[in-house]
Amino acid sequence: MNMADSKHISNLLLRGTLRHKVDMSRYVSWRAGGVAERMYQPADIEDLRMFLCDLPPDEPVYVLGLGSNLLVRDGGLCGTVLLLHGVLSELRIEEDGAVYAEAGVPGAKLARFAALNNRSGAEFFAGIPGTVGGMLAMNAGCYGSQTWEKVSNVMTVNRRGEINIRNAADYEIGYRQVALHKGGEEWFVAAWLNFEPGNGDTVRREIKTLLSKRIVSQPLNLPNAGSVFRNPPGDYAARLIEQCGLKGKRIGAAQVSEKHANFIVNSGKASATDIEQLINHVHATVEQCTGVSLLCEVRIIGEQKKCNK
Ligand SMILES: Cc1cc2nc3c(=O)[nH]c(=O)nc-3n(C[C@H](O)[C@H](O)[C@H](O)COP(=O)(O)OP(=O)(O)OC[C@H]3O[C@@H](n4cnc5c(N)ncnc54)[C@H](O)[C@@H]3O)c2cc1C
Repeated sequence: MNMADSKHISNLLLRGTLRHKVDMSRYVSWRAGGVAERMYQPADIEDLRMFLCDLPPDEPVYVLGLGSNLLVRDGGLCGTVLLLHGVLSELRIEEDGAVYAEAGVPGAKLARFAALNNRSGAEFFAGIPGTVGGMLAMNAGCYGSQTWEKVSNVMTVNRRGEINIRNAADYEIGYRQVALHKGGEEWFVAAWLNFEPGNGDTVRREIKTLLSKRIVSQPLNLPNAGSVFRNPPGDYAARLIEQCGLKGKRIGAAQVSEKHANFIVNSGKASATDIEQLINHVHATVEQCTGVSLLCEVRIIGEQKKCNK
C-alpha cells in the first residue's frame, strides 16, 4: 500500500493503492465531475475486506466499477471511493461448470471468456461497458437478456469486512434495480454465472453482430453513460424524448444525442452540472409534454459544492 499521505488508515498489511484528491472525471465514462477525497484500489478480495475492517464507521464509501452509469457532481465526493475495476479480475470455470467472475471483470472480457470456453448466453455482456459488479448492481441487460438471469450465487462484502454468499432469492430484482431484501449496505465482489453449452465460433459471430448494432444506433464517439432514463412500461424513453423535440438540446457542452435521444453526450468540456441540468430539463419537458415522469437510470452522487475536508 502507498502510505505516503495516508492519515486515517493504520493497517500496514494492506496491499492496495490509496490515492488522495482523485479527479473522478478520469474514472467515469461521461468524463466530467468533481474530485474524490480518497480512492482505494484493493489488491484482491481479502485486501478489500481488511481495508473495510479498518475504516472509520462514519466514513462514506462509494464503490466504483467502470463508471459507465455514474455522474459525480462537480463538488466531488467526501469519503472513500473503492475502485474495483482492474483489480478484482479473476475469471475461471468451476468444477460444476459455472463461470466464477470477480467484480472488476469488464463485460466484454466475460463475454469473450464464455465464448472461449464454448458457452453461449453471455454475448449480451460484450456491449455493456461496465464491470461484473456494476452489472450486478444495475441488473444490466440488453437484447432481451439481463444479468441476474445468469446468476447462481454472488459473493458480497459489507462495511465490517464480512463476506457473504447470496443468491437471487436474497434480492428484490427488477428492471435496472437490485436491492437486498433485508436492507443494509453490501457490495458485490464476485459472482457465479451459468451459461448454456455453445459453439465458440457461433458465439463470437453473435457478439460481432450485437456490437455492430450498437455502433449504428449509439453515439459511441463521444463520452456518455448509456441510457439516461429507464424505459417506461410499454414504451421507450428515447421515443418520448424525441417526440418532445429534445434531440440536440444543449446545456453548456452537454447535449441530447442526435443519434439516440436517451443518450446525453459530453460534446466538449461539459461539467457535471451541465449534464445534471440537462437531465432535469429533459425530465421536466417530457413530463409536461407527455404526462410521463421518466425514472433516471444513471446514478448521480456527490456534492453540489466543493467538499472541504
Ligand atoms: C455506451 C454505453 C452503453 C451502455 N449500454 C448498456 C446496456 O445495453 N444495458 C445496460 O443495462 N446498461 C448499459 N450501459 C450502462 C452501464 O454500462 C451499466 O449500468 C453497467 O452495469 C455499469 O457498470 P459499471 O461497472 O460501469 O458501474 P459504475 O458506473 O461504476 O457504477 C454504477 C452503480 O453500480 C454500483 N456498483 C458498481 N460496482 C459495484 C459493486 N461491485 N457492488 C455494488 N455496487 C456496485 C455503483 O456504486 C453505482 O451505484 C451503457 C453505458 C454506456 C456508456
